[in-house]
Parts: sequence; structure tokens; C-alpha cells
Amino acid sequence: MVKPQHHRMAISLAFLSYLHYTKIMRKIRFFIRKHLVICIFLGIIFLAILTLIIVLVTLSIQSGNTSTDSTQEEQIKAISTTEITTSQKSPTSGLSVTMSNPYNSSNCTTAWGPLMLINPNFTVDTNFITQRQSELIDLTATYGIKEGNSGNGTPMLDREAAEHLNDMIQAYQTENPGHTMTTRSCFRARGTTCGRLCVATGGSDHHSGYTCDLVDDTYGDDLDPDLLAQHPDWQWLYRNSYRFGFIDRFPEEWAGGTMNEPANINAEGTTGLVETWHYRYVGIDAATEIATGKYNDGKYDSLEHYLKSTGVITNLTDMKATCLN
Ligand SMILES: [Zn+2]
Repeated sequence: MVKPQHHRMAISLAFLSYLHYTKIMRKIRFFIRKHLVICIFLGIIFLAILTLIIVLVTLSIQSGNTSTDSTQEEQIKAISTTEITTSQKSPTSGLSVTMSNPYNSSNCTTAWGPLMLINPNFTVDTNFITQRQSELIDLTATYGIKEGNSGNGTPMLDREAAEHLNDMIQAYQTENPGHTMTTRSCFRARGTTCGRLCVATGGSDHHSGYTCDLVDDTYGDDLDPDLLAQHPDWQWLYRNSYRFGFIDRFPEEWAGGTMNEPANINAEGTTGLVETWHYRYVGIDAATEIATGKYNDGKYDSLEHYLKSTGVITNLTDMKATCLN
């Protein structure tokens, strides 16, 4: 309950305020009558400033909306080019690969993930290379797999591929007692400038994060195309890598031309390279089909020919024909 004396005090205060207010208002009215022209002038200026403020505020809100719209558009565009996902199926194995599409509109292919095709006709851009590098794991830190050439830096590989690579190396060393397998460059952010094996940045299979050049230390450090023929033990890798999801990415029979002068990639699936040390993870299902020549009369297939045979890639020489966007 409000006490009576408080009530009275409130009424008195209100009355006094009213008197004071009416006194002020009288003074203002008196001033206006006395200085009418000045007051009209001040009023006009006040209205002009008010209008100006309203216009400026409206404009700034509109430009804010526009920039938000364009930012949103850019974001949507970025999402559409980086997060388009696809499901590709090999007609026989039911293989399904889904992965973020890191390709921009000018560099694209129909496949990514373990069946990603990167070669001089199917190139990736620097955004892809940077993004891919950030997804890889350190083979030495995780599995103790050593890189034989310190100039190549830390060997980095896709997590799933790394696990299979470790199993493969362990099996190789168990079945070939006394032999030690090390890497000679796995992920690479740049191309190479080494004679006939030169591949420009963007077109190297090493950008995929699924590839390692492998060497048996017993044979020394020489990456020689004749390695396979010279060292029968090495053939174990060629014969068995598919069990671990890896393939010989550039088998001699798919080089086109001769071993020393391979031809360029062509529509039939030649690779233009011979690298008996270059092993690429594609997953066990695809590796099995490639190594057993499911689409090549029982003979070792090339990744290019395999992807074309399974309908994943429709045109091996014109990547624009296979772009999704
Ligand atoms: Zn290589």
C-alpha cells in the first residue's frame, strides 16, 4: 500500500512541474512571436538536416543490404564449386566415391576421391593443391615410414591411403626378408622438371595425395625405369599392391611409344610415362579390377583406360567434355 503522505507529495511535485512547464512554454511562445523570421529560418534548417540524415541512413542501409547480397552470392558460388558432391559408380564393383569437389570451373573432372584422375589433360589448380595438402597426414610421424631423400621433405599422404601403404610396406618387408622400403616423394605441391618425366604443376598425380614413389633401399636410390626388370624382388610390389588398394600408376605397357620415349596421353588411355616406382592408391576394388585387367583382356590396366572403360571419364583428351559445372 502507498502511504497517504507519499501520495500527497507526488501530487504536489506534479503540480509544481506543470507550473514550471507552462512558464517555460510561455517564454518560448513569447520568443517565437518576437523573432518569428529567425524561428522559421531555424525550423527550415532543422527540417533540411533531418531530411539529409534520413536520406543518408536509408542509403547506408541499402548499400549494406547490397554488399550482404553479393557476399551471400559469392558464398553460394564458393559452396557450389567446392562442395558439389557426386556419387560415381563403377558398373561392376559398385564402387562409390563421394568427396568435396575441389575443382574450379576451368579445371574439372568427373571423379575425385581415390579414383581422382590427375594428368596433363586433367589438371588441378593451386587452390586444390593447397586444400589437399592440409588434409594429409605425416607418414613418418604416424607410421614410421621414412623418406629416403631429405630434399623431398616430410612424406605426406591421404589418411586412408597411408594406412594401406603401411600394411603394404610391412607385407613387402615380411615377404622379402632383409629388404627395407622407403618413399621417394609422396604428395608434391609442384610439378617436376626432370627430362622426359617432366610434368608441369597442376598435372602431376603426386598432387592427389594418394601417391608415393617407392624404393627398396637394398637397390639404392636410383629411380630407374629398368628397376622392375633388374630386381625380381621388386615384382612383388607390381603383383601384390592391388591387395592393398595400390596400382602401378605408369606401367610400361601403357606408356605408349617406348620406355625411353613414351608417347603423350591419348584417347585409348596411354599414360605417357613409365615409372615402376610410382604407386597410386585407388581403393582395393578398383585396384583389383585394374591389376587383373577386368577391362583389358586380363592384362594390367592403366588408370586412364580403366576410368574410360567404366564410364567415369568419357573423353581422355578433352577434359572440358567431362566437366560437371
Ligand atoms: Zn612419381
